[in-house]
Amino acid sequence: MTSKLLWVSFILAALTLSVTFSLQPDEQKVLLVSFDGFRWDYLYRFPTPHFHYLMKYGVHVEQVTNIFITKTYPNHYTLVTGLFAENHGIVANDMFDPILNKSFSLDNMNIYDSEFWEEATPIWITNQRAGHASGAAMWPGADVKIHESFPTHYMPYNESVSFEDRVAKIIEWFTSKEPINLGLLYWEDPDDMGHHLGPDSPLMGPVISDIDNKLGYLIQMLKKAELWNVVNLIITSDHGMTQCSEERVIELDQYLDKDHYILIDKSPVAAILPKDGKFDEVYEALARAHPNLTVYKKEEIPERWHYRYNSRIQPIIAVADEGWYILQNKSDDFLLGNHGYDNALAEMHPIFLAYGPAFRKNFTKEAMNSTDLYPLLCHLLNITAMPHNGSFWNVQDLLSSATPRAIPSTQSTTLLRGSDKPREYEQEESYAYFIGVSLGSVIVVVFFIVFVKHLIRSQIPALPDMHAEISQPLLQA
Ligand SMILES: [Zn+2]
Repeated sequence: MTSKLLWVSFILAALTLSVTFSLQPDEQKVLLVSFDGFRWDYLYRFPTPHFHYLMKYGVHVEQVTNIFITKTYPNHYTLVTGLFAENHGIVANDMFDPILNKSFSLDNMNIYDSEFWEEATPIWITNQRAGHASGAAMWPGADVKIHESFPTHYMPYNESVSFEDRVAKIIEWFTSKEPINLGLLYWEDPDDMGHHLGPDSPLMGPVISDIDNKLGYLIQMLKKAELWNVVNLIITSDHGMTQCSEERVIELDQYLDKDHYILIDKSPVAAILPKDGKFDEVYEALARAHPNLTVYKKEEIPERWHYRYNSRIQPIIAVADEGWYILQNKSDDFLLGNHGYDNALAEMHPIFLAYGPAFRKNFTKEAMNSTDLYPLLCHLLNITAMPHNGSFWNVQDLLSSATPRAIPSTQSTTLLRGSDKPREYEQEESYAYFIGVSLGSVIVVVFFIVFVKHLIRSQIPALPDMHAEISQPLLQA
């Protein structure tokens, strides 16, 4: 009876130890999806049953503070690096680097120039360096050679490739003989239509309904491939959208001499490079130009934007108030919806939903920063994070209780410009992990010793009898 009890105790102790070790999330798979320009409140303004299905069975963050400037390329690079724009170097969709003496613009192929991207290392490269495979379907920057690498699998950017074809590739990569553990999927809407119609337009209803159907299609395909309860699905976006009006336009030609500066980026954050000797003149003229335009010398850009320490940020930036539009003059293109404004504005904020084995069910969180996604991804993929501006601590409550808290390997050690003070809790969490392991080990060893002792003792009573039997004849002899 006692022996049985000891066996049970031994098994329980061994289980404790194995659970402690299995806390390492080395089995997690992640699919990160971005619907470009999906503003956080579209979920409430229009019927979105598939998004709400994810909210019910997964997690939802109501306000995600993205990074300044709230444009597509800077924010997509933040999602995969955890860095502010000044640190990852993709400071705008249109840039000029005075050191490289090169321009970057979405309108031409020079976005494929590796040098623009190599101030950071995107997560797919770090994932591959750790021995895993990544796959990217049209994710901005994922078809650029960065640090001599591409994603293991990727689709060269082509906006005419359908959502269904992109999903098919992702499924193929997740189910191949050497499956990916990280998938990245990008879709251009509702950004395109948001610019065209303006987010306040009732015609946005069908646009959002179409996105909801696309999410439904993705869920259906994941279920069909038996990936639905295997892959952690994260649905997010890069920025929101605000309504513009031709009544709210600031024409630079009305205030500045065109020959005195080069306009690198336009609206709503005009990036201005004054020509030699013209800095003061340009700055003074702009500073007085318009009540809805705030003008900053580079060194005066507000700290909270983390948008100063990079040579691609121009000597002067002029930021329009929400809903205002900066044009060189009226011959420029005008869009009814735009983004790029102050990242503190709610209308600039994207969505964030997640569903999967690592995430809690039916859990709503008030706020996070988009920089926090990167350490969360590294944690799920069990890879060592590069230095970043995010905080795993901010988002670990999104994870289900069965999922481990931080393990030491996912934490970055270098303190980056713009980061908060070093995070002591990370140390605490690593202690907790090691205490768990040590305790488990001690329990197993103690029970093993007790068990062996018991085994030996249970054999001992037989010995005197044997001696007796042997000794008897001797005595008789
Ligand atoms: Zn975008």
